[in-house]
Amino acid sequence: MAKIGINIATGSLQQPEMIVGIDLGTTNSLVAIIHPETKMPIALKEFDGSSIVPSVVHFDQFGNVEVGAAAKPYLESDPANTIFSAKRLMGKSYKDIQTHQDFFAYKIIDDNNDSLVKVQVGDQFYSPIELSAHILTALKNRAEHILKTPVTKAVITVPAYFNDSQRQATRDAGKLAGLDVLRIINEPTAASLAYGLGLDPTEEKTIAVYDLGGGTFDISILKISGGVFEVLSTNGDTYLGGDDLDRAIIEYWMGLMKLDTLENQKSLKQQLRLAAEQAKIALSNAAHFETNFAGEKLTITKEIFENLIAGIVDKTMECCAKAMKDAVLKVSDINTVLMVGGSTRVPLVKNTVATFFNQPVNDTVNPDEVVALGAAVQADILAGNNQSMLLLDITPLSLGIETMGGLMDVLLPRNSKIPTQAGRQYTTQKDGQSGIQIAIYQGERDLVKDNRKLGEFTLSGIPSMPAGLPKVDVQFLINADGILQVRAKELRTGLTQSIEIKPQYGLTDQEVEQRLMDSITYAKEDIATRALVEAKTEAEQILAVTEKFMSKNIALLSKEELMQTAEAMQALQLAITMEDKNLIQGKTEALNELTRPFAERVMDQAISGALKGKGIMD
Ligand code: AMP
Repeated sequence: MAKIGINIATGSLQQPEMIVGIDLGTTNSLVAIIHPETKMPIALKEFDGSSIVPSVVHFDQFGNVEVGAAAKPYLESDPANTIFSAKRLMGKSYKDIQTHQDFFAYKIIDDNNDSLVKVQVGDQFYSPIELSAHILTALKNRAEHILKTPVTKAVITVPAYFNDSQRQATRDAGKLAGLDVLRIINEPTAASLAYGLGLDPTEEKTIAVYDLGGGTFDISILKISGGVFEVLSTNGDTYLGGDDLDRAIIEYWMGLMKLDTLENQKSLKQQLRLAAEQAKIALSNAAHFETNFAGEKLTITKEIFENLIAGIVDKTMECCAKAMKDAVLKVSDINTVLMVGGSTRVPLVKNTVATFFNQPVNDTVNPDEVVALGAAVQADILAGNNQSMLLLDITPLSLGIETMGGLMDVLLPRNSKIPTQAGRQYTTQKDGQSGIQIAIYQGERDLVKDNRKLGEFTLSGIPSMPAGLPKVDVQFLINADGILQVRAKELRTGLTQSIEIKPQYGLTDQEVEQRLMDSITYAKEDIATRALVEAKTEAEQILAVTEKFMSKNIALLSKEELMQTAEAMQALQLAITMEDKNLIQGKTEALNELTRPFAERVMDQAISGALKGKGIMD
């Protein structure tokens, strides 16, 4: 007979352990499960019927912590000690967020621009990981309270553009909250799963996920094929959402009331903000809204509201156009459009998206819950209750290493599907070189100095060998969570070294976009620079190898050959100093032509290997 466990914490019968799905949102968070009987995903609700846990953490002077709905009122009454939008700080440095500092009403430490941000509350310092862990703990407690069983395993969603460090930070927050994070998945992928997309292995679909929440906007283009999800492209704006729609109404009303500012009247300001949100929500189902504010009647029609927000909605459509362009797709290629986020309830938003994609949108699943519900579907798959499926995401920027002359050698191009692996062989540039340095960069520019450094390590202890002889295999591996591991192995000796990349700080998606734009703006310049650096590097290698050859094999060459070679070397050296790519290439070729028969003459494998070798930094 099977044993039945008793939960010591609650005294109730132990249920089989459940893996929960968590949407850790900027404004709101939720926890969901697959209902054991109906097998349908459901968001877990408290007695008040609300599935939403506001992503707000309040600390009182005694260090007591309140999270969610209980913490929300403090946003107005005690802003310095009330943390919202901690997600925006995940994996970020002060430098990353300083242009948006006005957005945060609490104190963000700015003592070191490059290290990860901390938030100061009283005399305590909190990392965004600790803050997120408080929210995750509240969700875990909610789940345990409702399910009457300990909850220790979770799937957590993150935006598709989150980089390695942000994903790692989310995973660490889970750990801190006592959760074993089985998988980090992308929010648009979760939304698709909630709509049941991708569960049929014969299904082939291209999906657009339009996600307009309270403070952020994301558009993602996904492809599903054979039960496999692939993110083709992402775009968006991390500071655009429902709050901007509220602000449009506030400004309109302030104009009507001839009010310049309510800066010093906190309570009135708050009242007006709430009235504006109420108006916005009402106008999703009505043509007209009316309320009283400080003894005045305030009204707004749906038509006026739509005129006020048209610019904001258009901005999101520009992002959609960019995402389509990045995915190299036409609107007619999109089979399904999914609506995610509370703000997609606004009819103008729905209609504009439908017009853009030239088809009706899917909005049958609650847009506030859809991501958490999808995370629950994924959790169920991982629990083995559903067919096993592979989830593929993409790298937002190219990943590579620094090679000779400060060039970026891309191993994994931008938009590579993950999990993935790529490798390339490198060699030493100097005789007897005992170590090679592997410096890892992220970005689209041809010179590493224009890209972002993620980390570096040295493969040391290479036995003394002539330049070009060691074969160093560098492998980039990205796991399903998007964490990058870089391995270097000297193939002759088996010497291996590796690191896992947990970058110091992340990039905002605007910065990702800026980097992409820069790579386009400077494309011509970059290509020319790369060509020159490559020509110079090759020339320097040929010069070094020739010099070595000459000193070793002087007896094999005639006096005339020696003279000609010295002249050709001098000409090449001059060309290098003149920084003229064509001249360098011409003179390299001339020297090559001249020395080729010499190399053949001695049949020195090592030297011919070195002539072909691709150098890396020493
Ligand atoms: P989310 O971040 O996805 O929870 O979205 C929250 C945002 O959706 C807030 O800005 C809400 O004001 C907005 N929202 C919720 N319900 C509605 C509605 N019926 N019409 C318009 N906006 C809504």
